Amino acid sequence: MSRRRLFTVSGGAVLASGLLGAAAPAAAARTTDQSTPVPGTGTHVVTLGTAAGPAIRGPRIGISTAVVVTGNLYLVDCGLGMVRQAAAAGLTMDRLRALFITHLHSDHISELPGLLLYNWGPGVNGIVEPVRILGPGPAPLPQGAEVHVPPSTASTERFVVDLLQAYAYDVNIRVYDEGRAPLDDLVRAEDIRLPAAVHADPDRNPCPEMEPFEVYADASVRVLATLVNHPPVFPALAFRFDSADGSVVISGDTTEHPNVVRLATGADVLVHEAIDPAFYQAQGLPPDLLEHILESHTDLQAVGRVARDAGVGHLVLSHLGGIQDDSDAAPTRTVFGGPVTVAADGQVFAVGQ
Ligand SMILES: [Zn+2]
Ligand SMILES: [Zn+2]
Repeated sequence: MSRRRLFTVSGGAVLASGLLGAAAPAAAARTTDQSTPVPGTGTHVVTLGTAAGPAIRGPRIGISTAVVVTGNLYLVDCGLGMVRQAAAAGLTMDRLRALFITHLHSDHISELPGLLLYNWGPGVNGIVEPVRILGPGPAPLPQGAEVHVPPSTASTERFVVDLLQAYAYDVNIRVYDEGRAPLDDLVRAEDIRLPAAVHADPDRNPCPEMEPFEVYADASVRVLATLVNHPPVFPALAFRFDSADGSVVISGDTTEHPNVVRLATGADVLVHEAIDPAFYQAQGLPPDLLEHILESHTDLQAVGRVARDAGVGHLVLSHLGGIQDDSDAAPTRTVFGGPVTVAADGQVFAVGQ
């Protein structure tokens, strides 16, 4: 029990005003700029953060994508800076239903502590009902990798449990002092287990071709996942959201791969990662790092082939490495004839009708 009055924050009214009740964008506008609020009706995807990698190479926010369905909020990944970006978009976390994690690379999860601790309870328009956090697990290290920090096998559930433990003092003292609901009661972390029929091997066959499988469903959305190819990371996942309005696929980190094509077939919007290899080759990077980047991501022509083969309605490039604006996507447009957008942080895209 609290020993003080209920916790309140003066900025709450500002944050509360953002999402619902905002005017819908003009019907003709397929995309809107980042100052436009996210409409409270229909389905929209918001590229909250668009930067690749655990590096500060410019002003872009770390990778994070929001899917908003009639006001319900779903997040995919939480890269550095996304908490502030979500607030700027009016996406308060009292609407958060689930967070999906594509893989356990730090650039996709580094802001999870801030997301939970700065959106904890009604006093900050934050989480008041248990939120599901779904991500890969178990995630073993590749054969031969040394364990410098245990455990040797990671998982989403373990990551969240350990994270809360690391912040035990703050969690415990704020429950005691401010009357907040225990944070551990508001978070339900779950490992996404691959179907038994998928015979993946982390070292020899980390991304076999497979059928997408359901990982989440509620009254607003159904979410499917598939393995993607991001060696040596295993498992690495992509997600597809289907709502009454349409469908959006978020690739996570991957090379060009048939599983992404299968997952994205007929999708209204495909948000896919992309890199410009020449950018990294010009950086003078350590050879192992350069090799990782080139062998585990998708270049600008390859991403066009994925969109073309899947027949998507709109290709949105995010998790950008060495790519700045729409003019950089010229190689993609030589392959894919549909609309291609190099995403900006906070850009809003309508999905379907
Ligand atoms: Zn990444
Ligand atoms: Zn990655």
